Amino acid sequence: MKDILLIANWKMNPGTAKEAQELFETVANAVEGVAGVKVVLCPPFVYIPEIVRAAPSVALGVGGQDCFWEGKGAFTGEVSPSMLKELGCEYVILGHSERAKYLGETEDMVQKKVAAALSADLKVVLCVGENEQTPADRENLIVVYEPEWAISTEGGRAADVSRVAEKVAAMRKTFKAGPILYGGSVDSSNIASFLKEAGVQGALVGGASLNAAEFISLVKNAAM
Ligand code: PEP
Repeated sequence: MKDILLIANWKMNPGTAKEAQELFETVANAVEGVAGVKVVLCPPFVYIPEIVRAAPSVALGVGGQDCFWEGKGAFTGEVSPSMLKELGCEYVILGHSERAKYLGETEDMVQKKVAAALSADLKVVLCVGENEQTPADRENLIVVYEPEWAISTEGGRAADVSRVAEKVAAMRKTFKAGPILYGGSVDSSNIASFLKEAGVQGALVGGASLNAAEFISLVKNAAM
């Protein structure tokens, strides 16, 4: 059986490199021996090099939270898939609803980013909301059902497990083989039921991944 995938989306947190390093070290030490779970940390770009330097000693993946669709050029502020790859990232999150909400990212942009990231040999963690279409299988594509209203920082609460199960079953009709995850207010108290009852192969975790003790419990509960 494949490992359960737990993708930690740190968003624009923590506020300092020192705090990021502390969070990384606490989590890395605690989850190192946990079998059956692959933990992937997705910090802000600026923290990635330090974390990659420390990560090879433990069974942790590292990913970016976004990338651009071109390899290089006059695109101020952007980071290319090949730059992430060169830094040592294995994964990249794409299509997060916060990017549409705050930065006007469109479906078309997301599609271009997905194609570019897959070509650069990154594993793409693609967020699909309530209304977007589920893509068909592609190698290295991981799909996340993440309704915007369920994200904790939006004042949301986790979707009902039965609703996630229904949605995941519908998504399976087009996305037949790759992992399907759930995202939205996942924490240590509900991870097990999403894994056992909703047919998902893991979770995208925002808020709960910033509290080391909470995230470590979540990882352990996922492995049980
Ligand atoms: C997210 O925004 O990707 C997310 C999963 O957030 P949270 O777990 O805080 O709902």
